[in-house]
Amino acid sequence: MDKQQRGKLEDGGLLCRFAHLVLPFLEPAGLASVSATCKALHVVSKAVTFRRISDASRYLENYPIPFFNSVDSQLYANFIYTPVQTLPTSPSIPILCWGGDIGNGPDQVRPDPFLFRVEGAHGCDCESCGSNCPCMDFPQECGPSCRCGSECENRLTQKGLSVKLKVVKDRRKGWSLCAAHFIPKGKFICEYTGELLTTEEARNRQRLYDQISKSSHFSPALLVVKEYLPSGNVCMRINIDATRIGNIARFINHSCDGGNLCTLIVRSSGALLPRVSFFSSRDVLENEELAFSYGDTTLNSKGSQCFCSSACCRGILPAEHT
Ligand SMILES: [Zn+2]
Ligand SMILES: [Zn+2]
Repeated sequence: MDKQQRGKLEDGGLLCRFAHLVLPFLEPAGLASVSATCKALHVVSKAVTFRRISDASRYLENYPIPFFNSVDSQLYANFIYTPVQTLPTSPSIPILCWGGDIGNGPDQVRPDPFLFRVEGAHGCDCESCGSNCPCMDFPQECGPSCRCGSECENRLTQKGLSVKLKVVKDRRKGWSLCAAHFIPKGKFICEYTGELLTTEEARNRQRLYDQISKSSHFSPALLVVKEYLPSGNVCMRINIDATRIGNIARFINHSCDGGNLCTLIVRSSGALLPRVSFFSSRDVLENEELAFSYGDTTLNSKGSQCFCSSACCRGILPAEHT
């Protein structure tokens, strides 16, 4: 055996030894080719794939969100999971590992880069928040300006999922988010998270996604939410791109028949950013798809409320007022 052959064998042995640490970082195509090289790596690859199918959230949510596909051979959708909003990042950053039990556990406020106190902002002085708490004025929540702690029950959207969900492949719509059990009306489902963009960045990305869509099958998840004052004037525009980095809300499809979700902008007392949050607008049955509606305002030919003419646009989602 020459030096080169010995070197190759040692490299192979080293990869097998650390396969359980290295393989979770590979993209699906890379994982498939490594899996084909030897039996040992095939076994580790299979375990990694099983882990990915079993939880789209990479163990970052309170409950696992499994993928189900009886339509084609795609076992799971490949994207970077973030349970909270992030700042725009370069596509050249390496893919994050799938897995790692770094979730905070249920009923705990998750680490959030935007959940810090804005200077001069006011919150409540309650030690234990009840019906007299001034932050109970929904869609207001307790936040970083409040005296109460992370265990406060009036921090609903800061604690992650409170319902069990699954991602199911549909023949026509592609991946879709479904209820894994009955969900009563008015329940918090999830926030829409991803990269938070300025309007200029959002327009640039939309142009880029339009280009990519021309030559390949591509599903962008760039959402624009406009919050309207009761007077009808726009007061805020939030651009969230969940195409590459996002949470399970990126799988929520639009429905023309009104859907079963409503979008609310939830504000945490004293926090820098509000949260684009989905709530069930009616009772949702087990296995039913979760879908949002753009409302009954003027719609374009694709059924969404936007006229930018971009093929990638998911429309502008107006947030509702309670
Ligand atoms: Zn509180
Ligand atoms: Zn409070």
